[in-house]
Amino acid sequence: MDEIVLGDVTITRITEYFGSVEMSPDVFFPDSPAEAWHEHEHWLAPDFLDPASNVCVSAIQTWLLRSAGATILVDTGVGNHKERPYSPVWSHLNTGFLDELGRAGVRPQDVDLVINTHLHVDHVGWNTRLDDRTWVPTFPNATYLMPRLDFDFWNPANGHQPNLGRGNQNVFEDSVAPVHEAGRTLLWEDSYRIDANLTLDLAPGHTPGSSVLTLESGTDRALFVGDLLHTALQFVEPDTNSCFCEDPVLARATRRRLLTRAAEENALVLPAHLGGHGGAEVVREGDRFAIKQWAPFARLRAE
Ligand SMILES: [Zn+2]
Repeated sequence: MDEIVLGDVTITRITEYFGSVEMSPDVFFPDSPAEAWHEHEHWLAPDFLDPASNVCVSAIQTWLLRSAGATILVDTGVGNHKERPYSPVWSHLNTGFLDELGRAGVRPQDVDLVINTHLHVDHVGWNTRLDDRTWVPTFPNATYLMPRLDFDFWNPANGHQPNLGRGNQNVFEDSVAPVHEAGRTLLWEDSYRIDANLTLDLAPGHTPGSSVLTLESGTDRALFVGDLLHTALQFVEPDTNSCFCEDPVLARATRRRLLTRAAEENALVLPAHLGGHGGAEVVREGDRFAIKQWAPFARLRAE
């Protein structure tokens, strides 16, 4: 079991996928200088980059938290059997995610809270599962916390034209609306206090409602930052955005603000998609950041 304890909170890493995301660095991160990937290749490979094929390597993972008696999932990955015509790498997956959750001692009915840091295709998938031909909440007893700004932005009825294009096609309909219609969503604004250890705050830029979950327990600190970073290169090149960032200027500012806070507070940074050890503590180095030490999770290995 890949588990750590911070203060009164237990954190377990549940991996849905680890490997190539079939995108080269210049496509995934169009504003990152090619030299930066070369300069840092010696530590980015193989956990975050496959230099032989020049593709980025990513994990899709859920952070399972046990806090104040509650069982909490942070982000729910891609999900099984989803029709994703414009995201073929995430179309029709059939993974053992729920078995993995079961090995961590959690049955779907045990989950009390689901947190979607934002409503992208790879963060809401296991919100629902296919029951015959109907999408139903996977976690029938859970309250699903969603940022209202993202709920409204990604609702096709509102006719937004996202930077992501059609990458989120079908996502609202099969992974968000069924949960909302079942009366299980809590759409929060500004910030939301979960319990004595955990608070959600907006961290916009990647999407309008992107959020960060702060863990403060005893002297321990962690920031679950969703897609504030997609690759470890962004620690040392904090102005680098992914091609999926809706507001590039705001995404950079939010990334710098949260990494500064993490460095000052000695907080473990846990993004959604880092392979390797899953996260890191950082220190300031001029106007950039450096990795002080990797998170104490076991290093992910490609199958
Ligand atoms: Zn993501």
